[in-house]
Amino acid sequence: MSAADMQGASGSSVLVIGGGLAGFSLARQLRALGHTGRLRIVDPEGLPYDRPPLSKAYLLGHTDQAGILLADADWCERHDVEILTGTVAAIHPETGEADLADGTVLEADLLVLATGGTARRLAIPGGDLDTVLELRTRADADRLRATLRPGLRLAVIGAGLIGAETASAARELGADVILIDPVDPPLVPAVGPELARRLHDMHAERGLEVVTGVPASITIDAGAHLITLDDGQAITADAILVGVGITANTALAVDAGLEVDGGVIVDDRQLTSHPRVYAVGDAARRRTADGVLQRRAEHWESAMNTGRTAAAAIAGAELPVHGASWFWSDRHGVHVEGVGSMTGPGTTVIREIDGVPAIAFRLDPDGYLAGCAAIDGGLAVRAARRMIDRRVHVDPAQLADPAVNLKKLAR
Ligand SMILES: Cc1cc2nc3c(=O)[nH]c(=O)nc-3n(C[C@H](O)[C@H](O)[C@H](O)COP(=O)(O)OP(=O)(O)OC[C@H]3O[C@@H](n4cnc5c(N)ncnc54)[C@H](O)[C@@H]3O)c2cc1C
Repeated sequence: MSAADMQGASGSSVLVIGGGLAGFSLARQLRALGHTGRLRIVDPEGLPYDRPPLSKAYLLGHTDQAGILLADADWCERHDVEILTGTVAAIHPETGEADLADGTVLEADLLVLATGGTARRLAIPGGDLDTVLELRTRADADRLRATLRPGLRLAVIGAGLIGAETASAARELGADVILIDPVDPPLVPAVGPELARRLHDMHAERGLEVVTGVPASITIDAGAHLITLDDGQAITADAILVGVGITANTALAVDAGLEVDGGVIVDDRQLTSHPRVYAVGDAARRRTADGVLQRRAEHWESAMNTGRTAAAAIAGAELPVHGASWFWSDRHGVHVEGVGSMTGPGTTVIREIDGVPAIAFRLDPDGYLAGCAAIDGGLAVRAARRMIDRRVHVDPAQLADPAVNLKKLAR
């Protein structure tokens, strides 16, 4: 049977490389769709777990390792999903083989790259010091948690979603936090300038020291770090956490000759340039049927959805329709959500609640909603998502008026 014939064959064996949310979501959905073939997930970290709590509840000690598992051993056994602890060193799409770092060779009809991303290091002198912390894995969170204590002077470099969340959690745990970012305010592309300003101002209101600048070097002397900014400012810190984004883990795809451009290129079915290999989650980047290369999503829901899409494609089921992309983030006791795109041509409409910007709507030049972000406004974002997905024409005055029920507007 050729690789192409295996799509829709419910007995085909599938090897999922990477057991994060995307790989797990694919496995769960395959079984839900009645796939009966052998299903294995290989990951150096063992059982699949969820990452968002690593900068929130897990870091704060409100939940533990068991509390962040996406599936426990019992679930895996009941659903006949084998979890192999190991690292894949190479894949061979023509034969369906995957070589593990320990020399074991696995074979499957179909391979799925669900390898996620790696926290980006700072490309400056000292950026690669072992004492400079990052936050991508449970081990990273454990190390950070063990470092944090009341009075610790923690410098967080990067005030994007993860940097801001970690800074907030560290403050809650009693650390003295210095938050450094080259941009003031950060996150404008995600939530628009008005909400970005309000969110960034919260850091200083909660007692964090906020610095705008570009780190140029990091040195360490007798356990104390010195961060020098490119304008000459010097900042001392007991510990440093860097949150400046991720790079997609594409090495396996590159070595196997698959098409890669900032992520493993996939089509609307999450199929790569080889008919035996799918890619999902943070590692994948979609090219739409009309040739548009989309931005790589690095959000929880996207990881889940791409796994579900690949499962449907493998099982020969109808592809799910997902709608506008959505994310959330929590910091300083507020909940942030965003949907669609806040960039691109058009205008922004702000809805104020209690005199402060609470919801930002991005309208395209034709008057359709393209994006929405909100602080403590999950219901508004849900309504906005319906308006985006259904292309409801909206009146800017109604969007801005806090008395207008957005749910009704979305109908
Ligand atoms: C601290 C933190 C907080 C976050 N908070 C939010 C949030 O609030 N909201 C939101 O929308 N998103 C959030 N995200 C993003 C979200 O968690 C990710 O988008 C999601 O985890 C991506 O899932 P994934 O399966 O593609 O990748 P990952 O979760 O990174 O999983 C990839 C897996 O592949 C494995 N792997 C890599 N290479 C190999 C190999 N060669 N062989 C075998 N296995 C391999 C890795 O060990 C890893 O387990 C957060 C992420 C982090 C790190």
